[in-house]
Amino acid sequence: MKYNTLSIEQLHELLKNGKTTPSEIAKQLLFLCEQEKYSNAINFLNQEVLKEAELLELKQADNSLLFGIPYAAKDNISTKGIPTCASSNILKGYIPSFDATIISKLKDNQTLMLCKTALDELGMGGVGLYSSNGEIYNPYDSKRIVGGSSSGSAYLVAKGIVPFAIGTDTGDSIRKPASLNNIVGFKPSYGAISRYGLLPYSPSLDTIGFFTRNVNDIAILCDATFGYDKRDATSIVINESDFYKNINSIKRTKKYCYIKYVIEALPNELKEKYYSFFNQLKKQGYEVMEVDFPKELLLAVSPVYMMISYSESASTNANLDGIKFGARVDGDDYEAVIKNTRNAGFGEEVKKRFLIGSLNLNKDKQLLYLNQAKKVRRLIVEQMSKIFQQADILIVPPFYDIAPLVSDIKKPLTEEQEIITDILILANMNGSPSITIPFTKKAGMGIGINFITKPKSDLLCLQAAKVAENIIGIKNQIVGENYE
Ligand code: GLN
Repeated sequence: MKYNTLSIEQLHELLKNGKTTPSEIAKQLLFLCEQEKYSNAINFLNQEVLKEAELLELKQADNSLLFGIPYAAKDNISTKGIPTCASSNILKGYIPSFDATIISKLKDNQTLMLCKTALDELGMGGVGLYSSNGEIYNPYDSKRIVGGSSSGSAYLVAKGIVPFAIGTDTGDSIRKPASLNNIVGFKPSYGAISRYGLLPYSPSLDTIGFFTRNVNDIAILCDATFGYDKRDATSIVINESDFYKNINSIKRTKKYCYIKYVIEALPNELKEKYYSFFNQLKKQGYEVMEVDFPKELLLAVSPVYMMISYSESASTNANLDGIKFGARVDGDDYEAVIKNTRNAGFGEEVKKRFLIGSLNLNKDKQLLYLNQAKKVRRLIVEQMSKIFQQADILIVPPFYDIAPLVSDIKKPLTEEQEIITDILILANMNGSPSITIPFTKKAGMGIGINFITKPKSDLLCLQAAKVAENIIGIKNQIVGENYE
C-alpha cells in the first residue's frame, strides 16, 4: 500500500482501524526521502525515526489524530540533538540542545519527524535558489522555481512524500510556495504558534505555520500547536479551539471582500475565475463586496517590508559571528575572526540584506528611513483594520500566474505584477491569519487563492478556506496524479 500520497486524515483512519502501523508508514516515507537527495530539498534525514516509531507502538496506541503521523520540519526550527543550519554555511555543524516549542508540541501529539527541509538561507528569499545545500526546483517542472523560503517543505508536500510540513512565513514564505506547488499553506495570527526555537529572520513579522494538501489537515495541526508559551514574549492566546470540529460551522452572515483593481490586474482567464468564484459564494448566500485600499499604500508594502525585515535581520543575526555561534574561520584578532567567519558563512542574498539593514540601523538613517517605514507600516495596518470593520474575509491572489521559469525571475515587473507579487505581506504587517489553497490549473501547474481574516480569527480563516475548497473542488493534489 502507498502511504505517501495520503493526507493526515486518511493516514489516521488506517492507523485507527489497525490497517497499518506508524513503523510501516515511517519506513516507506523515509525510503522516499532517501531518494530525494538529488532535489536538494532535504538537509537532514532523521534515521532515528524508525526507533521512535517502534517506541510509539509500545505505548498504548491512542486515537489522537496525529498519532504516528510523519512530517518534515523546515531547517530553521531548532531540534534537540539534530543538526539545524537554516541552509546557511555559518550554521553547519550546529546541533541545538533543545527543541523548539512547535517540535515539542508535535512530539507530545505523537507525530514522527522524518527530516529537516532546505530553505532560502535563514528564510531570506522567495525562490528556493538560495539554500547552501543547492538549488531546489519546482516538483511539477524543474525549469520553474519552487518558491520559498520554505522551499523543501513545499516540495515534499507537493510531491506526496509527507502529509504535512512545518514552514515559516515572514513575508509569504508559506503561502506563495503553496500557490506555486498546488498545495495548502497556512500562516496563523502572529504569536498564535510559539516562535521559541525558531532561528529568526525578522521577529516582528515571523510566524510558524504549515503546508498540507487539504484544509481539514491544517485544522488538526492548529488544534495541536496553538497556545500561549511563556518562553516567547510575543506569544498570544487565541480564544478559539476545536478547529477541526468546527471547521464546517461558518455563519452565512460572514462577508467576503476583495480589492477591485487587484483582481482587475490579473490576466483575463484568472480574473474570470475570480469573478465566477465570487458568484458561487453569492449563490451560497454569502455577501461578496469590494473594499478600498489606496494604491500608493499597496505599492509601499514591498519597500516597507524590505526596510523593516532587512533591518531586523541584520540585528537579530548579529550573534552569528564565529565567537558566540557559527562555524568559525580564524583571523589575527577578534574583529578579523568575525569578518572572516561572516564573509565565508553567508551567501550573497543574506549579505545584501544585512548590508541594507545595517545602513538603516545607523542612527541618522534610522530617523530618515526605518522610522518612516514603520510609520507607513502603521498606515497599512490601519487600512487592514478598516477593511475588517466592513467585511470578515479578504480574498487576494497569492500570485498572478503559475510558478515562474527560473530564467525569468530577474525580469522587470509591471506595477500591477509588483503589487500582486507582494500582497501576501499585508498579513505579516498586521499579524492576520492567512491561508492559500489550490484554485485553478494552467499548463499542468497550480495557481492558488488566498484568504485573510482579522488577527486572532484563525478559525474563521480556516472555515472560509473550507467553504472555498468545497466550491473549487480541488484537494489532496500530488505531482503526477490527476485531479480527482
Ligand atoms: N519573499 C520574501 C522574502 O524574500 C519571503 C521571505 C519569508 O517569508 N521568509 O523575504
